[in-house]
Amino acid sequence: MDDGYVLVARNGSTEYAPDGMLSNEPTADGGSGCQEFLSEIDSYIAGLDDLLWPLNQSIHENPELAFKEYKAHQTLTDFMVSREERWQVTPSAYGMETAWVAVYDSGKPGPAVCFNIEMDALPGLGHACGHNLIATASLAAGLATVEMMRRHNLAGKVLLFGTPGEEGVGGGKIRLLERGAYDGADISLISHPGIFNNSPMVRTTAFARLEVEYFGRTAHAANNPWLGINALDALVIAYNAVSVLRQQTMPGDVIGMTITNGGGEAANVIHAYTSGACVIRANTASRLENLKEKVSGCLRAGAEATGAKVKIKVIQGYADHVPNRVLAASYTKYWNGLPDVPEPRIPDLKQFTWVKSSTDQGNISRAMPSVNASFSIPHGPGSGPPHSPDFEKASGTKEAFDRALRVGKALAGTALDVLMKPGLLEEVKEQWKRDMEDIEHGVRGFRD
Ligand SMILES: [Zn+2]
Ligand SMILES: [Zn+2]
Repeated sequence: MDDGYVLVARNGSTEYAPDGMLSNEPTADGGSGCQEFLSEIDSYIAGLDDLLWPLNQSIHENPELAFKEYKAHQTLTDFMVSREERWQVTPSAYGMETAWVAVYDSGKPGPAVCFNIEMDALPGLGHACGHNLIATASLAAGLATVEMMRRHNLAGKVLLFGTPGEEGVGGGKIRLLERGAYDGADISLISHPGIFNNSPMVRTTAFARLEVEYFGRTAHAANNPWLGINALDALVIAYNAVSVLRQQTMPGDVIGMTITNGGGEAANVIHAYTSGACVIRANTASRLENLKEKVSGCLRAGAEATGAKVKIKVIQGYADHVPNRVLAASYTKYWNGLPDVPEPRIPDLKQFTWVKSSTDQGNISRAMPSVNASFSIPHGPGSGPPHSPDFEKASGTKEAFDRALRVGKALAGTALDVLMKPGLLEEVKEQWKRDMEDIEHGVRGFRD
């Protein structure tokens, strides 16, 4: 995913704690007891620098495509096995060669907190989506959470998931979800780098791909065109119908269309076969369903007008990501509590940070409370956003790595709040239930 288009401006109304102090976000225990954790997490993760920097670089310098993250899988599982904290490591988990799980169990019943680790790169662009930094942030967070659990005798479990194939419509996390990997998990935390935002209230778009084929009948275009059925006309009518539909779409709706087979080279025949594809995005999964119907109608119109047969194949993409406000408040508290708060500041948590991109963490957020924190890294010379060669360079710098460690600290703090604050997990789950109900009923306020 990337964060190319931000629709929510900072309104400047968020209050920030002075450096090193915690904000006054309400917490189950009145906010006490965290200051010590903040500085402990800060110094513990700072001490992991020498261990994690080579891992970060190894992933960045060895880009691997979706579900082929063999080197990253090996490097990361070897690292987890080498740790002394008794992680139970399962390589090639849940029927995927490059998926893995590492579990730390305190032995005492309590919340189960998860961190997802993405590993895949982009065809021809290397790590231009910065997934090496996602791995670093989640790894740092997982290790710090476990260290604090050990030091302070906290109950519960930490699960690290190596989640392959996020790019394209791979959906590694969806496969893990469907295969039961997250059964018993209480919350899921992850982050994503970009160049515009620092925000734990990220909403991504839902998307789907529609592939269309038209089957007509060829004929000579001069001698007896009336005997043919023009599949190219069907596709052109569909393309134009989609273009016309765009006038009445909702803000947040996006329809892209391409022609994948224009019927061949000869101009003097009636074309028997054509094909095309649409990628559609919307702010919510339910809106996407609606848009899918409308676009399908446009595609069918081409067939209706020409008499061609039409076949539409829907490839489900990712659900929109729904962030959890209670978890986001914890994240913000730790992020702002650390020294040298980076710009831009985290916006008011009442606002969403909308990004026009999609992630399979969206599907996770429909199964359990989730945070997918956007964080900005210093951009490259051309200021390119994710999925640009410029961002590939930016993702490999020490400054970007340092920023990922800061994210790791805030994610660890979020997980620790859930593990140690009585009643907080219930509060998180209540918020999640409300969010899911609001989405179900299309509550306007939720989308604002
Ligand atoms: Zn991406
Ligand atoms: Zn990405």
